[in-house]
Amino acid sequence: MIEGPGIIAFPTPIVNRQGRHMVNNWWNFIQFRLFPPTCILCHRPGAGELDLCAGCRAELPRPGPACRRCAEPLASDAGWVCGRCQRRPPAFDRTLTLFRYASPVDRLILDLKHHRRLANARLLGQLLHLAATDWPACDLLVPVPLHPRRQWRRGFNQSLEIARFAAHGLKLPLDSRRCRRLRCTDTQAELSARARRANVRGAFRAEGDWRGRRVAIIDDVMTTGATADALARALKARGALEVQVWVCARA
Ligand SMILES: [Zn+2]
Ligand SMILES: [Zn+2]
Repeated sequence: MIEGPGIIAFPTPIVNRQGRHMVNNWWNFIQFRLFPPTCILCHRPGAGELDLCAGCRAELPRPGPACRRCAEPLASDAGWVCGRCQRRPPAFDRTLTLFRYASPVDRLILDLKHHRRLANARLLGQLLHLAATDWPACDLLVPVPLHPRRQWRRGFNQSLEIARFAAHGLKLPLDSRRCRRLRCTDTQAELSARARRANVRGAFRAEGDWRGRRVAIIDDVMTTGATADALARALKARGALEVQVWVCARA
């Protein structure tokens, strides 16, 4: 399968005994030698190894001042935590957001999800890698799992595809085996924040021993943080020391 400007589907990852995916070096060689980086938005040559040119990158919708914990937009940037996180702190400790969920980032994410534009996953994963380089260290990445029924219907998990590239760049292991989504929560988009929390409560289960691990959850879009909260809760119930959330866009 070859799609988009310069991307091939990831080869079947090697899974070690802990159920972690490790990335092959030859894949890196192939993707950059055979398919030189090309801007996904304007089709000019990409900057460095990115499928994005410097001009288009400068115009992407950067997040403004936001809550340190959940990335909820705030009126001013004083390193504050929003009112909701003060009243009811989420199970995750901090959130790294690349962009606001606005044009053209919304289109990149929708095209990845609904039209299998895996080139967009490569770009978003690379941008997460670059942004996370100055971020507090973590031990491994965990993409938000889809319910098996939805994954079967879509054919892939967009968060896993993004996480593969971030993990590759950061040389961190990726664990997509030990967290499962137990319920299919289809109608999340129409729900209020409170209803979203109720909808995803207990929706995830983490298996095995996560004691002392510093985990980064990877997701494409964060809206209220309810999904990340539920997954972080499952990880902390298994002993995870710290859970960060890295998202491509904050609605
Ligand atoms: Zn461009
Ligand atoms: Zn907050």
